[in-house]
Amino acid sequence: MEKREKIAVIGAGASGLAAAMTAAEKGACVSLFERKKEPGRKILITGNGKCNIGNRQISHDTVPGCFYADHPERLLELTDRFPVEAQIGFLESLGLWLTERGDGIYPRSMQAGDVLSALLRGAKKAGVSLLCGSMVREIEKGPDGFYLSLSKEEGGEIRREGPFDKCIVSGGGSAAPKTGSDGNAGKMLRKLGIPFRDPLPALCALKSPEVPKLLSGVRARGEITLLGEKGELLAASKGELQFSEGEISGIPAFDVSHMAARRISENRPVTAVLNLFADHSPEEVREGIKGRISRMPDARFPVEGREALEEIFVGCFWDRLLSFLIRETGAENRIYPGRLQVSDAAQSLAARAGALRFRIAGTAGFDRAQVSQGGVPLTEVSENLESLTVPGLYITGELLDVDGICGGYNLYFALLTGRLVLG
Ligand SMILES: Cc1cc2nc3c(=O)[nH]c(=O)nc-3n(C[C@H](O)[C@H](O)[C@H](O)COP(=O)(O)OP(=O)(O)OC[C@H]3O[C@@H](n4cnc5c(N)ncnc54)[C@H](O)[C@@H]3O)c2cc1C
Repeated sequence: MEKREKIAVIGAGASGLAAAMTAAEKGACVSLFERKKEPGRKILITGNGKCNIGNRQISHDTVPGCFYADHPERLLELTDRFPVEAQIGFLESLGLWLTERGDGIYPRSMQAGDVLSALLRGAKKAGVSLLCGSMVREIEKGPDGFYLSLSKEEGGEIRREGPFDKCIVSGGGSAAPKTGSDGNAGKMLRKLGIPFRDPLPALCALKSPEVPKLLSGVRARGEITLLGEKGELLAASKGELQFSEGEISGIPAFDVSHMAARRISENRPVTAVLNLFADHSPEEVREGIKGRISRMPDARFPVEGREALEEIFVGCFWDRLLSFLIRETGAENRIYPGRLQVSDAAQSLAARAGALRFRIAGTAGFDRAQVSQGGVPLTEVSENLESLTVPGLYITGELLDVDGICGGYNLYFALLTGRLVLG
């Protein structure tokens, strides 16, 4: 009788659970080691507890614009082999009911815990042996296979397990370290001589000392464009922006934070330009303002600048954002004698709202990031995600140098790697 392969999987997150299942379905005897007392802690906090697990928009054409990857052509080779229909098929094969909100794919219950339960049930059915409270401290490759040094997360006695014929490392990146992925798995890979790009935060808020307290809590629809030192376009995204003192957040800010973090780590200046009229053409804005001014009775002039502008832009922006824009345009303490001057002030406020500039000084760190960029370049693994440096060792999920924008792309990639691993 043929001997069953012994495979160790490190990390019971989305990619590790899928990888363990894949290995067990291929007939291997699989041990899945998880440092935390419970598996899949990050899954539980995804999508604000609802778990946006995939996205209908994922296709050969959209992948290059939705992911940052060191080698986009290598990423396409992977995504082409695991289209979104394959991801849906995999999740449904676990019995998970799915639904769609816009392009986002979610569990029908909108409960992230149900995604975790389905993955755990699938792993159990496939025969995976899950060992929680087992933190891998070191991976060694000996002549007869892989050996792992393990202990409890809090320390204590070290035990050695092995040999394993193969080892799949699914220990995650450096974002949200409380969930267990604190960058330690990347360090183990480096120790084995595997090339690894330094991790940086991504999908997180942008820091700017120029965002005043007045804007705290304000939300506005718009477009954020990141510019480099020569005014060159680095990244752009549209949607609902959120402000707090010294910070710009919201999905569009998260989506461009990869580029901001990277540039700032290279000590290069970054500017964010916000267009709060991104959903209107300049002509529409101009005409809208004209119409409103023409409806103001003659008796309204001369008029206090603040009052006139509040009347013209009522319902357009949150009050505090309008106060900020009025302050920025210098209209606060002025009296405008006639329609023409009010029109000039309103058009200049609109122009300001269309191009608000903030110097970006940094990003929120790993604690508040949803993912980390960096990791093992795709050129360092085979199409089956086997390391070219250490044959027999496979790498999945966020440990690879790929990160997606908001909207289910990162969990899609985690599951993709878990399903394509081993070939
Ligand atoms: C707040 C938040 C919201 C998010 N929302 C979404 C969303 O809605 N949609 C989306 O697509 N993505 C989302 N993401 C990103 C997504 O969750 C991750 O990209 C994805 O879970 C990465 O999966 P992974 O398996 O690579 O790593 P992880 O999920 O980080 O799993 C790694 C596992 O390995 C374990 N581990 C680490 N080191 C060791 C060790 N030495 N020994 C044993 N075990 C170890 C960890 O404890 C952990 O359980 C979100 C992330 C955060 C933080």
